[in-house]
Amino acid sequence: MEKFDYTKISDDCVKCGKCKPVCTIFNINQDEATSPRGFIDLLGAYKRDELELDKTAKEIFESCFLCTNCVEVCPNDLPTDMIIEQVRSDIAKKYGIAWYKRLFFFLLRHRKIMDFMSKLGWMFQTCGIKIDAEKKSATPRFSLPIVKKNRALPYADSVSFLNKYPENIRAKEDVKKGRVAIFIGCMSNYTYTKTGDSLVKILKKLELDIFIPKKQLCCGAPAYFTGAFDTVDYLTKKNIEYFESWIDSVDAVIIPEATCSAMINQDWEHYLHNQPEWKERAKKLSSKIFMATKWLENNTDLKDMLAKSGKKFDQMVTYHDPCHAKKMQGIWKEPRELLKQNYVLKEMSDSNRCCGFGGVTMQTERFDFARAAGAPKAAMIRDTKAQIVSAECSACRMQITDSLYHADVDVVFKNPIELIAEALED
Ligand code: SF4
Ligand code: SF4
Repeated sequence: MEKFDYTKISDDCVKCGKCKPVCTIFNINQDEATSPRGFIDLLGAYKRDELELDKTAKEIFESCFLCTNCVEVCPNDLPTDMIIEQVRSDIAKKYGIAWYKRLFFFLLRHRKIMDFMSKLGWMFQTCGIKIDAEKKSATPRFSLPIVKKNRALPYADSVSFLNKYPENIRAKEDVKKGRVAIFIGCMSNYTYTKTGDSLVKILKKLELDIFIPKKQLCCGAPAYFTGAFDTVDYLTKKNIEYFESWIDSVDAVIIPEATCSAMINQDWEHYLHNQPEWKERAKKLSSKIFMATKWLENNTDLKDMLAKSGKKFDQMVTYHDPCHAKKMQGIWKEPRELLKQNYVLKEMSDSNRCCGFGGVTMQTERFDFARAAGAPKAAMIRDTKAQIVSAECSACRMQITDSLYHADVDVVFKNPIELIAEALED
């Protein structure tokens, strides 16, 4: 099926309603208009020129969390998330993009300025720009997070991951098992830098040459989900050209982030669907690009190494499945396989339920929705009685940490890569 043919998608929706009970926004705003079936209906009407893209329609289309729950259950595989991503670009063209989002996307395009901001103590944080609902104005919050004992709050590191390490970290020539590149993602580069530190430790233990490509840019996901397609175009093409200059020299590019890996592996091609030459180039790269736990589990001796370490931690870990890992990339066994060698795993009641992050717009203009979607996740984590919640995704980390804080649940968040590195420590 042509993925972006709204009329055909609208015609193909058989109105069975299977998507409604699993829909993140419908569960907190029970209105047919904010359900997958409703979005599809409205988009069909928009394409037939029967619906104006007015402010109400804008708010409706911006309320989708892009969690892909609906795609997973739809008998006709209708790509609701993708057509919403497309219509958001029409919304951005018609209404423009708010100044604080433009500033954010400008920073994503200009690594050196972002590095400078991070040195000043600025970092990604939940609702970093908060909309004052009464005044309808945006208040930037460039503050460091409140540090509370035993909370899994961001590790403020004034040196980014990419600036901390040399471009090449070489294994001894006689034992070397291969060469991998790290794509780190902006949040692990600036905020959760321990994830990258841990990945370097693991790769060293595995005796792999590590390549840290210094000119990598943001994958473009925040801009893609917002409809800021000029930024997506710039970041995607710059990254593709750069990746092509060194991809043949590595066995794989590994990414300890669900959203960035899904963006590079799948959404670059979706975005480039009407630019065939670029789409082909993105597709060619994707065969070497992997989420970190998937590549480590399928291509190295890491699991055996963890088992042989004999370490058994008392802490109980519960694993949350990021939407961009399980639903988009089918990755859920691999992190659990690795973690269970050293930790007691306890499943939460619905690990597949979206955490409620939802992207930049949700985290700023619709934070009430993000909070409402986050509360059930915090409750199910509390019910496991685990001490640690893990997910290979910094967006989930930011949202879940905030939800736990507001529900007063004392559980620490760690990326599985951090937990694995701890298990390998001498
Ligand atoms: S992507 Fe998620 S929030 Fe959006 S319509 Fe589908 S299930 Fe609902
Ligand atoms: S599950 Fe698919 S076919 Fe059924 S109502 Fe939802 S979008 Fe339409």
